[in-house]
Amino acid sequence: MSTFRGILLSKTGDQFSASVSLLDHAQLPQEADVEVAVEYSTVNYKDALAITNSAPVVRRWPMVPGIDGAGAVVASRNAAWRVGDKVILNGFGVGETHWGCLAERAALKGEWLVQVPINLSTKEAMAIGTAGYTAMLCAIALEKRGVKPTDGEILVTGASGGVGSIAIAILAGWGYRVVASTGKLTEADYLMMLGASEVIDRAGLSVVGKPLQKERWAGVIDSVGSFTLANVCAQTKYGGVVAACGLAQGMDFPASVAPFILRGITLVGIDSVMAPLFARHEAWQKLSTDLDRDKLAAISREISLNEVESMARQIMSGSLRGRVVVRL
Ligand code: NDP
Repeated sequence: MSTFRGILLSKTGDQFSASVSLLDHAQLPQEADVEVAVEYSTVNYKDALAITNSAPVVRRWPMVPGIDGAGAVVASRNAAWRVGDKVILNGFGVGETHWGCLAERAALKGEWLVQVPINLSTKEAMAIGTAGYTAMLCAIALEKRGVKPTDGEILVTGASGGVGSIAIAILAGWGYRVVASTGKLTEADYLMMLGASEVIDRAGLSVVGKPLQKERWAGVIDSVGSFTLANVCAQTKYGGVVAACGLAQGMDFPASVAPFILRGITLVGIDSVMAPLFARHEAWQKLSTDLDRDKLAAISREISLNEVESMARQIMSGSLRGRVVVRL
């Protein structure tokens, strides 16, 4: 395939453009050692930031966005991968400094790739995508720090988003009582279907609060940051654990040390982009066995490359729920 379709982001001075373009095979990054025919990619929050030029996600121009993808190896100079292998890519700066997966072809480094688990299709892998893999990293962080279903309720913020939706499905499947915090109370039925026992309005968490509040949560998965993260720390029970992975409300953390020094709570930072391979394998393995497929189907919708730009704008407006899978 000497040419292939992909999204191309360009910037010259202040002039930014995003378009579905015909790209030349010779333009693919030469330092990569595995070429993948991308079958499915997704539009993550970070992709939406890049495609709408809302934050400096892209650090080399022109750029093909797409921080994750799944497909089949079509050429390999890496001993670990052979033609026909089905692989997943998450992060490692792909779609930021290295051409990404919102294209029919991607040239990637073999050391970045994870095999698609035997019982997942490439489409299911991308219905999960970076958001779902991050949700699993968060859930594992709570579990490994000893938070058990009998310890009490787990709060999931940004509940109707990609990370939040999959976090609810995982935790409910593991037997936790999950409370979903959302700005979309109209999505309460969807959140209950995923496994939430209760749905609360995020408005109460989004504004400045007291440094110590009534203890409620045994654990929290937070994809929102800012005042929300400060408030959930202030409401976490003695010895509880908060896994922080996102900044949908903001990057700031206007909090007090009180919950840490008076209640011994733990705040765990979750990064999916540079996470080591053993953590990726563990997360993807658990996702392939523990995530309810009917719920996954309800969380995700499929679109074509031509629809990506408008979907990115919807994600930035915060009006979308669940995950968006892109068919290449
Ligand atoms: P989505 O856009 O799918 O979901 C984000 C959700 O956050 C929205 O659906 C909304 O949920 C809530 N939200 C949006 N704006 C606000 C606001 N102003 N205040 C409070 N809540 C808000 O994104 P993802 O789920 O894919 O990602 C969530 C976050 O996690 C992002 O910041 C993303 O960058 C980050 N992330 C981090 C990763 C890492 O490696 N650490 C990996 C993947 C994602 P609702 O309406 O239900 O409240």
